Amino acid sequence: MRTIKIFDTTLRDGEQSPGASMNVNEKVQVAKQLARLGVDIIEAGFAISSPGDFEAIKTIGAELEGPVICSLARAREEDIKKAWEALKDVPKRRIHTFHSTSDIHLKYQFRINREEALKRSVNMVKLARTFVEDVEFSPMDATRSDTGYLCEVIEAVIDAGASTVNIPDTVGYSIPSEFGALIKALRDRVKNIDKAVISVHCHNDLGLAVANSLAAVLNGAGQIECTVNGIGERAGNCSMEEVVMALRTRRDIFNADTNINTEEIMRSSRLVTKITGMSVQPNKAIVGDNAFAHESGIHQDGLLKEKSTYEIIKPETIGLHKTKLILGKHSGRHAFKARLDELGYKLSDTELNSAFERFKKLADQKKNIYDEDIEALVSEEVTRIPESYSIIDLNIVAGINQKPTATVKLRVDEELIEKTEHGDGPVDAAYKAIASMTNTKSSLLKFEVKSITGGTDALGEVMVSLEEGGRVVRGHGADTDIIVASAKAYINALNKLAVRRK
Ligand SMILES: [Zn+2]
Repeated sequence: MRTIKIFDTTLRDGEQSPGASMNVNEKVQVAKQLARLGVDIIEAGFAISSPGDFEAIKTIGAELEGPVICSLARAREEDIKKAWEALKDVPKRRIHTFHSTSDIHLKYQFRINREEALKRSVNMVKLARTFVEDVEFSPMDATRSDTGYLCEVIEAVIDAGASTVNIPDTVGYSIPSEFGALIKALRDRVKNIDKAVISVHCHNDLGLAVANSLAAVLNGAGQIECTVNGIGERAGNCSMEEVVMALRTRRDIFNADTNINTEEIMRSSRLVTKITGMSVQPNKAIVGDNAFAHESGIHQDGLLKEKSTYEIIKPETIGLHKTKLILGKHSGRHAFKARLDELGYKLSDTELNSAFERFKKLADQKKNIYDEDIEALVSEEVTRIPESYSIIDLNIVAGINQKPTATVKLRVDEELIEKTEHGDGPVDAAYKAIASMTNTKSSLLKFEVKSITGGTDALGEVMVSLEEGGRVVRGHGADTDIIVASAKAYINALNKLAVRRK
């Protein structure tokens, strides 16, 4: 059985989803989870594109063990040098360089001919090889390139030292039979193809990214580029959880598997949702809320008698346990820390203390504390940023015959201030009060409330997006009181804007 490498590009291509940008801290948190998930390669960013990307690659490389850390670089000298600079202290590193090969890109975007594109590609692979052993090359827009020319480029870059050749369906144009045939053609026609791993990078414009990637595996591809929840440019990338579970579930057909620890899939999906603010549709395969919900009476009857009647994947396989009671009011610090360890979180002492304090508070409000509740507490702790504003108190008057009124007390740069406002509802009133005390010029783009577990005492999680001068930030807040959660989320986003302003 072959092992297909999983190249995760959530932090690079995924981050290119409109509105999904992440700060360095958030990227490190996602990268740590990707390592737990067992991906083989993490594309941590595009070093030359921004100081934030550069920093993220460097930090992830310094903090992570396990996966190969990769930076993207155009086929330009300054790009490759910048990628090297970000990677030079990383023990397992890869430079991924790319150049278009389709006539349509060469003619209109680059205004160069095929020979020139080939020359640049070869030279830049050679340059990258002077820095690192592990070089990947992508002929951008491969699926709309002339196959003969594509073969010529692939052969030349392998000769120049590329050990992975990645075939991107950049515009999401291909269909499975055609894409599979293209991979087969490369294997048949490129003389030195055995010296490199064939990778694929599919986009989902026609909803075929996963299907195309699987067709490529059937034709000999050995690496799949994908993202958690399938996020990415436009309609997104190949979805990691779908492609991994398709391979796992149908090993009989593919005769291949991955190194992914599938029990980490659900947690990875939730973390990426939380950090990017991009929710997953309920009917999404594998990680959607309804993916394992059986509504039909006939199906339920079958399931009760024998799970395999209607279930092709056990929910536990992707880490979806019946949320079990784990901790409560009387659990001590030790039990809390032990559970965190089991969940894979490593907090510093200060982080642990503050998370534990909030855990105790939560346990006072809520009888049963589930894993999801703890994850919410901890991720709030880990993504904590310097606070220009913090909420001290909140008092709400609301009801059917009441004018919704909020009195909010904030600490604004060491000073305590209080304000009362009316609104269309309690959230509106609280937001007006906070906006006026912080003098924010931001506008609210998105407001979303979600319950983390079941029951009326569940933690409510609020996610907001704010825009100010073209910058978009997201804020999160979790509390058993959704008005408090809403205020926390708003304050969290305002703090992020304050950090960016500095
Ligand atoms: Zn892409």
